[in-house]
Amino acid sequence: MSRFLNSRYQSLEVYTPGEQPQDQVYTKLNTNESPYPASPRVVAAIGRKELEELRLYSDPDLKPLVSKLANAYGLSPAQVFVSNGSDDILNFAFMAFSGQPGRAAFPDITYGFYQVFADLHQVEATVIPLEADFSVDYRRYCGLQQMIVLANPNAQVGRALPRKAMEEIIASNPAHVVVVDEAYVDFGAESCAPLVGKYPNLLVVQTFSKSRSMAGARLGYALGDAALIADLNRIKYSTNPYNVNRLTMFAGIAALEDQAYYDENCKKIMATRAWTVEALEALGFTVIPSQANFVLAAHPSMDGETIYRVLKQRGILVRHFSTPRIANYNRITIGSDAQMALLVDTLRDVLGGTSR
Ligand SMILES: *Cc1c(COP(=O)(O)O)cnc(C)c1O
Repeated sequence: MSRFLNSRYQSLEVYTPGEQPQDQVYTKLNTNESPYPASPRVVAAIGRKELEELRLYSDPDLKPLVSKLANAYGLSPAQVFVSNGSDDILNFAFMAFSGQPGRAAFPDITYGFYQVFADLHQVEATVIPLEADFSVDYRRYCGLQQMIVLANPNAQVGRALPRKAMEEIIASNPAHVVVVDEAYVDFGAESCAPLVGKYPNLLVVQTFSKSRSMAGARLGYALGDAALIADLNRIKYSTNPYNVNRLTMFAGIAALEDQAYYDENCKKIMATRAWTVEALEALGFTVIPSQANFVLAAHPSMDGETIYRVLKQRGILVRHFSTPRIANYNRITIGSDAQMALLVDTLRDVLGGTSR
């Protein structure tokens, strides 16, 4: 840290992304990427012409992409915001909607970035513990009178709340924004997108990173009341109006034109998830029920950190969090059938005589 750094950032604890090691090829089950490639339409959307046209700035309003998204959800373009990954949007939401002085509520076990954004913007966090079974009790969020940020399905855990419960939270906090982070919604949960026209305090955030196989393209979007979207644009236009690059915009449009391909991939991932859960349980693992493209799993005879380390030695990366409540677990991304079979075989071997 230099002596020039503003004192307000000196104690900031930064977000630690999952490892992206470049030293060897790993079976990567640690950052919830899709095992399937982007749609052939996405690949075809970027050719020589688009590359040559990188000399031009991108369209700051991203009009064609915004109207495609609006059509897909039956909303107007004024209800859609697009940005450089959903992390970018969550950052803007903490900046814009947490109040003065800032306050925001979220669970103790969830996406680690919420606490980082809270710290970054000097927002006081109301951290609400998950229940013993790692579920969110929606009643704890009703009438909180502050901004609420909920990942649904919840990050790290995979459990999801039904839309009805989310609606109770949204309806009970009319004076504050409820941000619903739906990064994993396409793997079997209920989206709050259909509630957007009904509640002016609802912001639904989604991403192309997980179900649409475009993590490296950095594309996220938010659906909400036109006034909320205008607020987000106010911040975007005060920082970096061109924050979505030209190639990513073309890729995003092409992805939306091949929804059937992504629906099929999500179905495959859900089937692989069901198979993986059965296989892990047969090895003696406790697996938290998941509606996301990952599962959180612990084994009674080997601690979570050791499992993480042994798997890494054998070329398989999973995500281990040292957060006390889940330190004995690992978060395992659902990859292809072949990747999950390799994981299960490796775990069987590693656990040897210790599994039942
Ligand atoms: C992956 C993830 C994000 C980040 O998505 P990007 O669009 O890649 O920035 C946001 N929220 C949750 C809960 C995630 O798991």
